[in-house]
Amino acid sequence: MSAYPLKVSNINHDDLLVDDIIHQFNGIAKTPLHKNAFELSPEQKIEKIAAHFSEILHTLGMDLTDESIKDTPLRVAKMYVNETFKGLIPDNEPSITQFANDYRYSQMLVEKSITVFSTCEHHLVPIHGKAHVAYFSSGKVIGLSKLNRLVDYYSRRPQVQERLTIQIADALKRALNSNDVAVVIDAHHMCVASRGIRDVNSSTVTAEYSGKFLNPETRKEFLEFIRG
Ligand SMILES: [Zn+2]
Repeated sequence: MSAYPLKVSNINHDDLLVDDIIHQFNGIAKTPLHKNAFELSPEQKIEKIAAHFSEILHTLGMDLTDESIKDTPLRVAKMYVNETFKGLIPDNEPSITQFANDYRYSQMLVEKSITVFSTCEHHLVPIHGKAHVAYFSSGKVIGLSKLNRLVDYYSRRPQVQERLTIQIADALKRALNSNDVAVVIDAHHMCVASRGIRDVNSSTVTAEYSGKFLNPETRKEFLEFIRG
């Protein structure tokens, strides 16, 4: 099947076909992946991408023997695989431990202003903003920092903001065994700010509500919490 031993958290890969793995990996909002997406190891991907970046820079006219840029292709390849797009590697999915909600907290929990660093998949330039997530416990709670980690994992893929919003909401539902989740993302797109229309002030807001958050009163309370 694959040269690269796959380990997606909570999934036993031995019995899964590539289609199943890609489905598990994607949840309901699909990052478009080809069938061999997980065939190369991260190290093999870095090597291959570095060679392509050398070609790109050379084609643009840059002299790759120059001291300042000779290591750029490898540096960028490492950054792509290990940081910018680390959410394309299933092993990097944060493992989420659930705890019993011993203190019986039954109100909304809001984690606001989570930093989002993502990449527009149409221009490969940064999307930078904030995510606000909320949930009601269905009897289990998860560590607060796991909310940040989930946002970061799905952000570190080539993205459109709409899909990112849905992927985070979907992952939260699975992690919490709860349908009562809300996700709002407010982000600046460098493809809008630095090229094309060159609008540095506009931001894009997307939202996904489900379960209790479909109730207008509940949604209003959430929006009050994240205001300002
Ligand atoms: Zn773009």
